[in-house]
Amino acid sequence: MSGSTTSGADARHRVVIIGSGFGGLFGAKALKRSDVDVTMVAKTTHHLFQPLLYQVATGILSEGEIAPPTREILSGQKNARVLLGEVTEIDLENRLVFSHVLRRQTVTEYDTLLVAAGASQSYFGNDHFAEFAPGMKSIDDALELRGRIFGAFELAELGAQRGEDIDHLLTFVVVGAGPTGVEMAGQIAELAHRTLKRDFHYINTRHARVILADAADQVLPPFGERLGASSKKELEKLGVEVMLGAMVTGVDERGLEVKYRNGRTERIEAVTKMWAAGVQANPLGRTLSEQTGAPLDRAGRIRVNSDLTLPGHPEVFVVGDMISLDNLPGVAQVAIQGAKYAAKEIDHRLADKPPQEPFHYFDKGSMAIISRFRAVAMVGKLRLTGVIAWLMWLAVHLVYITGFKNRVTAVLHWFVSFLGRGRSERTSTEQQIFARNALAKLDRGAADLVSDPSGEAHMDAEESRRVELEEKAREEARLTDRGERGVPVEQRAG
Ligand SMILES: Cc1cc2nc3c(=O)[nH]c(=O)nc-3n(C[C@H](O)[C@H](O)[C@H](O)COP(=O)(O)OP(=O)(O)OC[C@H]3O[C@@H](n4cnc5c(N)ncnc54)[C@H](O)[C@@H]3O)c2cc1C
Repeated sequence: MSGSTTSGADARHRVVIIGSGFGGLFGAKALKRSDVDVTMVAKTTHHLFQPLLYQVATGILSEGEIAPPTREILSGQKNARVLLGEVTEIDLENRLVFSHVLRRQTVTEYDTLLVAAGASQSYFGNDHFAEFAPGMKSIDDALELRGRIFGAFELAELGAQRGEDIDHLLTFVVVGAGPTGVEMAGQIAELAHRTLKRDFHYINTRHARVILADAADQVLPPFGERLGASSKKELEKLGVEVMLGAMVTGVDERGLEVKYRNGRTERIEAVTKMWAAGVQANPLGRTLSEQTGAPLDRAGRIRVNSDLTLPGHPEVFVVGDMISLDNLPGVAQVAIQGAKYAAKEIDHRLADKPPQEPFHYFDKGSMAIISRFRAVAMVGKLRLTGVIAWLMWLAVHLVYITGFKNRVTAVLHWFVSFLGRGRSERTSTEQQIFARNALAKLDRGAADLVSDPSGEAHMDAEESRRVELEEKAREEARLTDRGERGVPVEQRAG
């Protein structure tokens, strides 16, 4: 076990940040000039730009373009260090954060804690759906979906060549008609109807069915009725079948079942399914709730004070997708603005300045892309659709992609995909498609595949390897000294 320990009168104030997403990264950066030591503990080595995950899944962008290494981003920030590890426990009384990676535990002490661990997919109590319908929350999810989507076309080509039924392979179902679901359905439709149409011999990819299913009766509810209706029309023009009022009640390897409001059920044969229907705040919220009494809402978000701290713990800030405060939406700006507010409050306290006013979210607007040249946007009272909204989407995403190089390469990829037909990031491997479910079959996931870092097993293996190597060397020397190399056994002396 290792831990960071800074103590004594001259020790600098220690800020520990959990998560390297929008809240975590922007919080760390906002503390660049502060008189503090920042330690960011995150379970991935990258900062993920989640809004563009669907472009990785559909072959437009590479994973590196939307997930630059956090260590590199913060390399110029002298007061920040990065620790890899999944936080499993937070001890508020003793101000300790426990994290693990491949059986290695790290304990990190803090004076102020900023929790920005985000949210994960919610299957509304049907977690077994996940095996066949991955969500869209991580690079692993996007690469798995990429493999499944392009793989389905390949299997359909093989099946068609053999004269088999391939409808289930050429049917793609996206569950959830929020921004992620709409973007994903639009892109799969573009792939099938435009990008891939000349690449296969035995199948006509334009015959692929792309279905967007949602239990609610509106597309893009957060964008209001008018933009929702126009998005639905745009999707239908692209060839997406929009099934509303259709609740998914079962998912298996070969397809899924939906139940309509009138009680009618329908089975859809579809090998490729994607889940974009709900979110559940990070389970660390429960640990924090149990220790502070702050309530959790139905999505597991923790109720924070108006200054984003926890009751009785002014040294603990929680920001982003984990919080429940004034019905704030789960969007990047809530996390970014919350993290900047927390950083400023830390500065105020260190300078003995009075506290800030309560946190106030400034809504800069929302947008969702439907297809190339088509998007919807909401900025204040303004409602935009079509090319103008799409250009706005382009500009905003360019500003927020991290790193100059990533911005340049993203623009090049967009040129190739939107003006041309190409998708240069179609590579997928068997591991990407099957690794998630294979790891889930192990008790402790990847940790079951590594040796114990305490070293006992390692020492045993080392010792037996040494004995083996010494024996081998003795045998080699004996063969040479006795001139037995190349001599048949029966002709050897003795
Ligand atoms: C597919 C998709 C599309 C989206 N599109 C948009 C959009 O267009 N516009 C918009 O504004 N918002 C969008 N969002 C929402 C936006 O990405 C989130 O609101 C935002 O990322 C929240 O920031 P956060 O810091 O709270 O969490 P995240 O950015 O999710 O960061 C959480 C971090 O915590 C880490 N972590 C999690 N658990 C642990 C643990 N136990 N220990 C250590 N580290 C941990 C994660 O690895 C990650 O680094 C989208 C989200 C998704 C999934």
